[in-house]
Amino acid sequence: MDGGARRRRPLRAVLLGAPGSGKGTQAERIASRLGVPAISTGDMLRDQVAAGTELGLRVRDVMAAGSLVEDDLMAEVVRARLARSDAQRGFLLDGYPRTTVQAETLERLLGATDARLDAVVLLEVPEEILVLRTLGRQRADDREDVVRERLRVYREKTEPLVGYYQGRGLLRRVDGDQAVERVTAAVLASLGG
Ligand code: AMP
Repeated sequence: MDGGARRRRPLRAVLLGAPGSGKGTQAERIASRLGVPAISTGDMLRDQVAAGTELGLRVRDVMAAGSLVEDDLMAEVVRARLARSDAQRGFLLDGYPRTTVQAETLERLLGATDARLDAVVLLEVPEEILVLRTLGRQRADDREDVVRERLRVYREKTEPLVGYYQGRGLLRRVDGDQAVERVTAAVLASLGG
């Protein structure tokens, strides 16, 4: 219609999946392909813990136990991050939202600037593969009891988001139990690119 090169519309998306589903790896790959920042709340919190900030000290034990940081604290972390200039051209969220309250917060934060989510991609991986993958990763919070706790918390608190986003017509399901490149391609395809 305008005859000229059209600027790509910002893509605002969430990558949803259990611990060990490959979210972090895929978020980086997909975000770089799409030219948007991958925003990992887990990485942001780990940076705070490593730097010994006040926030880091507040969340350290919760993270080590495999539990979730309070919704109010996360709301502030995400609000500040989404307000940064690089997120204005879109983003791929990894690890947020993790509760229905957080999903509502995200909607509210985006709505304040008349923005909204375009898609939520669920990486589906069978439970036994999740445990094997996560135990192979050797992070401080990856002891087997903590891995099981993280999975339990995912099922209880985060899995309800599947229905939440399905009801909003935003959910796309991708088989996360295949080679990394194939998962990346499937996610990109599900995002229409
Ligand atoms: P992740 O790397 O995404 O698995 O996150 C590591 C840990 O950071 C989680 O187990 C939680 O303790 C904490 N965390 C990260 N994102 C969130 C969130 N959206 N809500 C609550 N806690 C979070």
